[in-house]
Amino acid sequence: EVRNVSKIFGKSPKAALELLELGRSKKEILKETGQTLGVNKVNFSIYPGEIFVIMGLSGSGKSTLIRMFNRLIAPTIGEILIDNEDIVKMSASRLREVRQQKISMVFQNFALFPHKTILENTEFGLEIQKKPIKDRREKAMQALEIVGLKGYEHQLPSQLSGGMQQRVGLARALASDTDILLMDEAFSALDPLIRKDMQDELLEIQENFKKTIIFITHDLDEALRIGDRIALMKDGSIIQLGTPEQIMMNPANEFVEKFVEDVD
Ligand code: ADP
Ligand code: MG
Repeated sequence: EVRNVSKIFGKSPKAALELLELGRSKKEILKETGQTLGVNKVNFSIYPGEIFVIMGLSGSGKSTLIRMFNRLIAPTIGEILIDNEDIVKMSASRLREVRQQKISMVFQNFALFPHKTILENTEFGLEIQKKPIKDRREKAMQALEIVGLKGYEHQLPSQLSGGMQQRVGLARALASDTDILLMDEAFSALDPLIRKDMQDELLEIQENFKKTIIFITHDLDEALRIGDRIALMKDGSIIQLGTPEQIMMNPANEFVEKFVEDVD
């Protein structure tokens, strides 16, 4: 659950926060204080087991928002509750535990270690969790099987195609057995056909493992295809949040209408 969260980038956010309270725009805040508004007073809940898609143009605050879920970026103000625990105020040691036990992130550029094998890359999260080696092997092998990479475990990332490398990224996230998956443009670098396969894969994972998936994409078709709900962002704010049907049938304003009109 996200409660009244804002993020201002800059050394002294106080003045910017005051302007934000007065309802000033990102542009005005930048001009008057030199501080950049990343996320603007957002409030929403994410339900367990759903695929929650965040969409919006470049610079609208999607990455800033998703990174606050594991506190890679600290909010300037507001609360982020995971299982009723506010991660904004939590101690560094508790944060480390919560990250290891509850949250995995899949990156757009795969972020694999080039000199580690596919199996070692998949085990990496479990290694951090300090799981015994036998457990690690077993979980990693299972995850590789789920994403269709059985038989590749002793190869290196460079021997795999982009789509397969991203499957490794997904396997790594699955192996660590966390309830929450954060995916920031995770499929954006993939060819359209492979991308569709990955979307199907993700839907299967959601169904079989009841993961809560927070998924950023630029691509409206992708959002409509996999999203249970979609949040559309503009200048740091969520301007509409709803099911794909709600967004398509009842766009909240002209901006949303423009955004969705190219899709049939
Ligand atoms: P998106 O992921 O939707 O493209 P971002 O969350 O990356 O958008 O960025 C939102 C806004 O915050 C942009 O105006 C961006 O320039 C600004 N921003 C993001 N990260 C930083 C940072 N580390 N320092 C300063 N400004 C930033
Ligand atoms: Mg981004």
